[in-house]
Amino acid sequence: MNLHESEKIAGMLESEGYEKAESQSEADIIVFNTCCIRENAEDRAEGNIGALKKLKKTNKNLIIAVGGCMTQQNGYAEKLYKEFPFIDIIFGTHNLDGFRSLLSKRIDRNKSVIDVWDKEGDIREDTPKCRSSYPNAWINIVYGCNNFCTYCIVPYVRGRERSRKTEDIVNECKKVISEGYKEITLLGQNVNSYGHDLGTSDFSSLLKEINKIEGKFRLRFMTNHPKDFNEELIKTMSECEKICKSVHLPVQSGSNRILKLMNRHYSREDYFDKVSLLRKYIPDIAITTDIMVGFPGETEEDFLDTMDLVKRIKFAGAFTFIYSKRSGTPAAKMEPQVDPEISKERIMKLISVQDSVNRSYSKSYNGKTIEILCEGYDDKKNKYLGRDVFGRMAYFDCKENLIGQFVNVRISKTGGISLLGEKE
Ligand code: SF4
Repeated sequence: MNLHESEKIAGMLESEGYEKAESQSEADIIVFNTCCIRENAEDRAEGNIGALKKLKKTNKNLIIAVGGCMTQQNGYAEKLYKEFPFIDIIFGTHNLDGFRSLLSKRIDRNKSVIDVWDKEGDIREDTPKCRSSYPNAWINIVYGCNNFCTYCIVPYVRGRERSRKTEDIVNECKKVISEGYKEITLLGQNVNSYGHDLGTSDFSSLLKEINKIEGKFRLRFMTNHPKDFNEELIKTMSECEKICKSVHLPVQSGSNRILKLMNRHYSREDYFDKVSLLRKYIPDIAITTDIMVGFPGETEEDFLDTMDLVKRIKFAGAFTFIYSKRSGTPAAKMEPQVDPEISKERIMKLISVQDSVNRSYSKSYNGKTIEILCEGYDDKKNKYLGRDVFGRMAYFDCKENLIGQFVNVRISKTGGISLLGEKE
């Protein structure tokens, strides 16, 4: 999501005649698009902003702008400006599309501009984008979130759900396909609730419309919410040939008590049922997930429930992380907060279980030929790379540049989560 918003900021700057600088010292403008989902992301951003003080002293014309969900937090912009008065522009998530006018205001007045809106702005369809992830194109379908999971800051900094019109999304998909993009990833905090506010469409209908677009391309989407992930969607996934056979379905915890405290609105049994249904319609579907340990009040028994769920479901991949206290969320006031040492022990155990699942899943690829979409070149490994329809990354040697092409690769070696092979 943040990456795509950075593409919008770059697109707006490009439309004003700016070009990408090779280094910070050559830049006329530096924009930080920040994230506040976890505390360490916030600390890192502040460290990076502080490090620019020297550069600003040597280059008085340099413009430093800071936006994103960190600055959208209540009272944060003022606090940030007090700490770093050399910042030229501070904006929030709700007025990101208006960045160009803030920039001209700053240039005209020659003084800092702090403009963070309390309310969501209208959806703007005219914001230019400078896409940076060819052959994949990120496309937002819904902004904001209505769910208020108790650990999450997103609804406070991104506002309520607002869906783009189906017609606008389909037109954008057609445009990127005609430009040569081979994969589309639809984005939203909860893509499954797409269209609820429109009343004229829903996520399954949108997928069917996009699937009708001619040409060979892959369709992915993220993120899903288990409570809204329904049979109609699963059926649609099984019927639309362009939709990849992978789905990211964040479970967060395997304990019913913790899921309730998290305000997730599903139980572990519901989650098992959705996974069974998915595997009934699409037997080889690759399911990935997010799992948190150390949520306030998590006992050893709760953690063992999570471990049990992970062992039984056998995820194709999992993002595991330790709960990060975000002030302003209900969970920040919950007691007892889990001892960080216990959280560390738990995450190590979790990673070790998931690692062995990853390895055996990778092993099942040995000797197989898979079609991958070549998406880049890894300078360290000196190999091209790309993913198959299940989202598995494969590396291979090749003398010609195949980025953006579908390539058959025969897998000869497997490791943790990545695969190694030869082009056929
Ligand atoms: S659904 Fe996702 S974005 Fe929304 S509150 Fe829950 S975790 Fe945050």
